[in-house]
Amino acid sequence: MLPYGRQSIDDSDVDAVVAALGSDWLTTGPRVARFEADLEEVAGAPCVTVTNGTTALHAAYAAAGVTSGDEVVTTPMTFVATASGAALLGATVVFADVEEDTANIDPAAVEATVTSRTRVIAAVDYAGVPADYDRLRKVTDEAGAILLGDAAHSIGSTYRGRPVGSLADLTTFSFFPTKNLTTGEGGAVASIRPDLLQRVRTFRTVGLVRDPDRLRHPDEGGWHQEVHEFGLNYRLPDVLCALGSAQLRRLAEFKTRRARLTARYDELLADVPGLRLPVRRSDVDPVRHLYPVRILDGRRREVYDRLRAAGIGVQVNYIPVYWHPVFEDLGYRRGMCPVAERFYAEELSLPLFADLSDSDQDRVVEALRGILGS
Ligand SMILES: *Cc1c(COP(=O)(O)O)cnc(C)c1O
Repeated sequence: MLPYGRQSIDDSDVDAVVAALGSDWLTTGPRVARFEADLEEVAGAPCVTVTNGTTALHAAYAAAGVTSGDEVVTTPMTFVATASGAALLGATVVFADVEEDTANIDPAAVEATVTSRTRVIAAVDYAGVPADYDRLRKVTDEAGAILLGDAAHSIGSTYRGRPVGSLADLTTFSFFPTKNLTTGEGGAVASIRPDLLQRVRTFRTVGLVRDPDRLRHPDEGGWHQEVHEFGLNYRLPDVLCALGSAQLRRLAEFKTRRARLTARYDELLADVPGLRLPVRRSDVDPVRHLYPVRILDGRRREVYDRLRAAGIGVQVNYIPVYWHPVFEDLGYRRGMCPVAERFYAEELSLPLFADLSDSDQDRVVEALRGILGS
């Protein structure tokens, strides 16, 4: 089965991991700090690594002080972790509908959901295209809230010339194998606010405080460390950070290849009936994470089944998050975000990854053409 996404691993990646395995550190060592510094260059803000994109969201919401009684506004057009990280901390998740073309959270819809209890507004850069951060910033500041960007799709993208990572107060990344770069499992949180990033760093290290200036009982002895707030062990090992730094050096190459494959799809699929292609926006320079087409005339399920039967691993990103039974059981009902639901009903992600060959891409195009009849 041709997958919809997969990693690209070359000799430079293998060499970096082998070198780390032969070193003195398997977990927290010099490669963690190096990867965090390398990430900062791309993200435009200091970064803390964590074990995956889900724990990055959990740590970011915890750093934002999310707790029971708070409301967190987010998009339904995302992976469930964008919402569950806040729900686990006791917040009420409020879904705001998306823009019809990008499927990114609609700032006008966000504005309509804001209350005095809104603690965080969480956008997702769907398919790698950054959300409208200038408008979201305005709404967030007026609400006295914190702006979070789930950038699991969009590391390496820019918005109005500014890198993803420098746009929101807190930005989360995932390094799962299907994402723009991988550490196997892995993630990070970037923040333009040192106070928030410090809280992320403490949370991912079980809440342990070692800095003498922060200790409540500094005279206890050289071994002493304290927990002031509960945290978890979300540390990303040195071995995986070695892979991360090697992958980051290839991000520009990945971006170019994904852009070329996107342009080829745009061209090769332009005249296929019953199909709508993803939008381009002039104010963003995205790393194309997904190639999300819209299958019209109620044929999405048929096209999905027939492409899978032909060995083409298409995917649907995503069912509206509040359709998950855990939200149904909390009383969330279908129909809440009609634009997102219409998008979901038509969406199909075609294979897109750096090592996808032109001939495999041609096979996808021909199979789709065969089904939609042109
Ligand atoms: C992949 C993904 C996550 C979760 O990342 P993991 O590393 O798989 O835990 C969160 N949000 C979005 C939008 C994602 O695509």
